[in-house]
Amino acid sequence: MKIGVLALQGDFEDHRVALGRLGTDPVLVRTPDDLGGVDGLVIPGGESTTIGKLAVRRGLIEPIRARAASGMPVLGTCAGMILCARRVVDSDQPVLGLVDITVRRNAFGRQVDSFECDLDVGGVGRVRAVFIRAPWVESVGEGVEVLAERDGRPVAARQGRVLVTAFHPELTEDTGVHAAFLGV
Ligand code: GLN
Repeated sequence: MKIGVLALQGDFEDHRVALGRLGTDPVLVRTPDDLGGVDGLVIPGGESTTIGKLAVRRGLIEPIRARAASGMPVLGTCAGMILCARRVVDSDQPVLGLVDITVRRNAFGRQVDSFECDLDVGGVGRVRAVFIRAPWVESVGEGVEVLAERDGRPVAARQGRVLVTAFHPELTEDTGVHAAFLGV
């Protein structure tokens, strides 16, 4: 299985390294052509408005939607989770709408804008979770499985073959989330 990492902005390089640790040789995706060559896609953390705008400019929004609709696995982390959501509270930024969730950006507040904790994630187990100006899930639609919560808010979820986390699994040694995504 050839895995692609969306490499428009953000920490795509860390995902490439994390996926490499699981024995895969991921490629960077910047164009619809690149997307055509992969069987799964990781959307990294970064700045969701920037990644969204660049994805619009590069003509990637519809191709990613179409591939996801035909069953391509997608992992979205932090800004990547925002991009995978259907709706963003108080924002009309471009999103892919792959998972029926509404997310709130920078939701954990300024005082604690970044933190780490141990988190039990359904289907993955206990992981060290790094939150950096992270979103949370404000509401979930039918068919969305919540996999982890923090402060009573969903921070990991799955719908079909799309897995999203509000935290950054690519920033720890823990490969559990990537392994779950790969179905390893
Ligand atoms: N705060 C960023 C956003 O709203 C996400 C932060 C991150 O990816 N670490 O897009």
